Amino acid sequence: MSATVSRECAVEPWPEGVFARHLTWAGAHLGDHSLTVDISEDDLRRAVCRGCGDSHNQYEKPSVSEWAMSHAAACRALPRPGVA
Ligand SMILES: [Zn+2]
Repeated sequence: MSATVSRECAVEPWPEGVFARHLTWAGAHLGDHSLTVDISEDDLRRAVCRGCGDSHNQYEKPSVSEWAMSHAAACRALPRPGVA
């Protein structure tokens, strides 16, 4: 079972510019691999939660990586159905 979950996670498409992804608490418990905090960098390094929509950028404290890890570990939000 866990091998199947890992393959599904590996094939979840990553948007352009995303270089790190953390599965949220809700995503892990529901088996929904679309519930992630994505870290991307173009002109600005930022993390965006695809569960609750909260975000964090490089000018805020803590660092983007630290925020992404701690937010993903705690976020229990589910996106409203039908809203991308
Ligand atoms: Zn969140």
